[in-house]
Amino acid sequence: MKVGILKEANEARVSIIPDTVKKLVGLGHSCLVETGAGLESFSSDKDYKAAGAVVTDRKEVISTVDLLISITPIAPNELKNALSHLTQIALFEPFNAPDRIKNYAQAQHNAFSLDMIPRITIAQSMDVLSSMASIAGYKAVLLAANLIPSYFPMLSTAAGSIPPAKVLILGAGVAGLQAIATAKRLGAVVEASDVRAAAKEEVMSLGGKFIEVEGATDDKGAGGYAVEQSEDFKKRQQALVQAKAKKADVIITTAQLRGRPAPTLIPASTVNEMRAGSVIIDLAASTGGNCELSKDNETVNHNGVRIVGNSNLAALVSSDASSLFSRNIFNFLKHLTDKEGQFKFDMEDKITASALIVKDGKVLGN
Ligand code: NAD
Repeated sequence: MKVGILKEANEARVSIIPDTVKKLVGLGHSCLVETGAGLESFSSDKDYKAAGAVVTDRKEVISTVDLLISITPIAPNELKNALSHLTQIALFEPFNAPDRIKNYAQAQHNAFSLDMIPRITIAQSMDVLSSMASIAGYKAVLLAANLIPSYFPMLSTAAGSIPPAKVLILGAGVAGLQAIATAKRLGAVVEASDVRAAAKEEVMSLGGKFIEVEGATDDKGAGGYAVEQSEDFKKRQQALVQAKAKKADVIITTAQLRGRPAPTLIPASTVNEMRAGSVIIDLAASTGGNCELSKDNETVNHNGVRIVGNSNLAALVSSDASSLFSRNIFNFLKHLTDKEGQFKFDMEDKITASALIVKDGKVLGN
């Protein structure tokens, strides 16, 4: 197959790094890479050429390849000159943008959405959401440590001792667990909460204290995703969070609900009770935020409490994020293709059936 790799429009990561180009070429594919695609993640055009790619302009990439790979889907009008049988791999987020997907349904076009890969063991090596969430959790803690006007670790000095920072993590999934591990390594006291019962043991194994709110709905049939909680649960959770938030130096929120707005875990009334100088990093900002005052891609200063709504923190670790993204896609492609390197489109396969959102120009209803 002729594989095309594009430069992302608004961010520093790239979907495929030179190392993966080398592997794709080794499997018999040819790779066309848009000029400058890897510059912001520190892979030069020279690196791509050395790996066996042809580096060329965007138009040529889009109009000549069988498979187009990007992180963010490109605008449908850019596909006018694409081959009719083109297959695309990107983060289409059909749950968050169902209408947008219709625009990709054209000719014999096929599209795999990376966020639709199911959370099953054999798909773990293909799971870009987990790779990126883990980086975001790590970076969120570093960002918070930079912003707060105090130390993270406890310090004993000749002038007296400094207490450790108190970090509260809401949502102990992939990002939350990495945030706990990072905050612990920096010496903070860490507490965390989640609605999934399995999270308790994971939090404790990383040295965090688990905050339990009784009566959470833990739906094991939701494929590893959390479900909406009852009004009563939400009230009790908010009361507990408010009590903890008053004492916290840092709150990192990561709670997401698939295909729905993120749950509000920190209302404005709780932020009003927080100390000036404390920081909230809201990793759910792009889906509405866990803090009522969050604004996507903005930092809000509310009476001295800074609320950071940067929901693409993985892009700040552009080199490693691109490397993991690229490896995930390579594993995904290997799974989807046969020995000749052609797509199998095997709808009996759970991963294909879930991730393939457009087939032969028709939007599939998965
Ligand atoms: P996510 O990004 O959907 O949500 C983040 C966390 O927020 C989750 O732990 C969720 O339970 C929690 N949350 C949701 N609503 C909440 C609320 N009201 N209050 C507190 N917490 C709330 O989830 P994620 O981080 O991608 O993953 C969640 C789980 O799925 C993890 O256990 C992870 O290991 C598992 N997982 C498995 C695979 C796989 O097997 N391939 C892949 C990815 C994730």
